[in-house]
Amino acid sequence: MPYSIPTDEEVMDSLRSVMRKMKGISSLRKLRKVVIRDLKMRDPDYTVSHERLRRLAAKAPFLKVSIDARKNERVKDLKGRCPVCEGRLKMTKNETIFGGTVTIGYKCTQCPYWTTLKRRVPIRYHFEYEK
Ligand SMILES: [Zn+2]
Repeated sequence: MPYSIPTDEEVMDSLRSVMRKMKGISSLRKLRKVVIRDLKMRDPDYTVSHERLRRLAAKAPFLKVSIDARKNERVKDLKGRCPVCEGRLKMTKNETIFGGTVTIGYKCTQCPYWTTLKRRVPIRYHFEYEK
């Protein structure tokens, strides 16, 4: 095996320690670079994928995550799962003038991601240390 896999706790620890120093980082790619550098001090073979880091960072209680997204005209089925953290999506509804409700989009129950029915595709993340 050319690499080994850190536990969620180890990734969270590294994330907390780099973010405490950096305060803010404006891309997932940069965040991953510094987190991996920190992880390698624990085990030189450690690495973490973009997807896993994004999922963990989106739910980290000590981070404020903002998501820039562009609209995608093709409304693709999200299958009820958040594209950022894989959390469950909740429908957001609006009352209509006719007294009924209409679905206007979806909101993640676990991270700041939301989308209208025209799906918002995350393109850039900004991470800020909060505690
Ligand atoms: Zn989410």
